[in-house]
Amino acid sequence: MTDAKMPLRAKVASSVSRTAAALSRAAGRGDGSVIGGWIGLKIDPDLLAHLSAGRAIALVSGTNGKTTTTRLTSAAVGVLGRVATNSFGANMPSGHTSALAKAGSTPYAVLEVDEHYLAQVLEATEPHVVALLNLSRDQLDRAKEVAMMAQLWRAALVRHTDVRVVANADDPLVVWAATPPGDPARGIKPPHVTWFSAGQRWHDDSWVCPECGSTIQRSGEQWWCTGCPLRRPEPHWVVEDEGVLDPTGAWHKVSLQLPGKVNLGNAATALAVAAEFGVRPVDAVSRLGIVTSVAGRYAQVDKDGRNIRLLLAKNPASWLEAFDMADDAPTLLSINARDPDGLDTSWLYDVDFAPLRGRQVLITGDRAYDLAVRLDVNDVPFQHVRTFDDALRSVPPGRLEVIANYTAFQDIRAELDRVI
Ligand SMILES: [Zn+2]
Repeated sequence: MTDAKMPLRAKVASSVSRTAAALSRAAGRGDGSVIGGWIGLKIDPDLLAHLSAGRAIALVSGTNGKTTTTRLTSAAVGVLGRVATNSFGANMPSGHTSALAKAGSTPYAVLEVDEHYLAQVLEATEPHVVALLNLSRDQLDRAKEVAMMAQLWRAALVRHTDVRVVANADDPLVVWAATPPGDPARGIKPPHVTWFSAGQRWHDDSWVCPECGSTIQRSGEQWWCTGCPLRRPEPHWVVEDEGVLDPTGAWHKVSLQLPGKVNLGNAATALAVAAEFGVRPVDAVSRLGIVTSVAGRYAQVDKDGRNIRLLLAKNPASWLEAFDMADDAPTLLSINARDPDGLDTSWLYDVDFAPLRGRQVLITGDRAYDLAVRLDVNDVPFQHVRTFDDALRSVPPGRLEVIANYTAFQDIRAELDRVI
């Protein structure tokens, strides 16, 4: 909806929201993308719906990869016109509200959505397409929520049967969530789903069938339930070599500046979502290569002859992905256990650190000693360093991979900002 067509209350709320965001930025309190939206929603609780009207919207949700996939999808949909997006990862309704208010009128929007808020944001934004990436435990204290989250997603899709779903065929919980049965008697059809294969390195949250409770079996990339018909659907979009196969069988080379097979999977997802808006993959692939870093992740910084690359790993599944992305080079691991990280570090025992054997491994962070015990048990030799500068002095010139959890990542980014 353009400003002119908005109800007065929404207009005021939208304008106050933009002003508050600008004030917050001016006061040095972050980028203002949350506070502005929060104030706007206080004035007009329907502001997100008003700002969404008239835009073709894609929502991107899941435990991991949503910030990167949102960036890649915005780049791909950008082929068609201007795209509003919450690129700072402010992924709750206040962040969406602020992003749309700030962008002004755009024909398209691609929004990253915290998995807990998907139902609410579906309701408010009435998107054209929703991308479901994966579901796994976020931190140990939230592990029980994984199955519940799949249930909430499924229930939300039953209420929005017109939305086109783009979902990961490799994650049993996502497949189950994306395929609620229709009810012809009540005129409810099952959702239209396009499947992509982005792989799933982490299986520990999907050994039990969400439909019937039987065991899920795996062989290669296939998986199936031993007690009911739930099984891996045939994907329409597949990562193959250094590119992506589209549903017509055409292969597109994808040259990303982001590392690892995980990001090729994110690129396949972005192409699949963009295709739902009518973007041809052949037109979109070159735009994926312009994405360099995402909120500081994958950023590369040169200092004292070292090329430092930052990888964020916030939960067990994303640690496995980070090991996959990292080059075979000296690696600094940093772990904190402050509030946003989860206070308990016993999740370290869910992660197999064996892929680091043979690399020079350095450790730091508030909870470096927890990490030390874990690496010792895993037979990975390491060296403890107190500061990031100590780490730099301890490795030879060349690549230094840095893998850190949330607040440790922020600490290292701040330290790098100071020195450069
Ligand atoms: Zn089953």
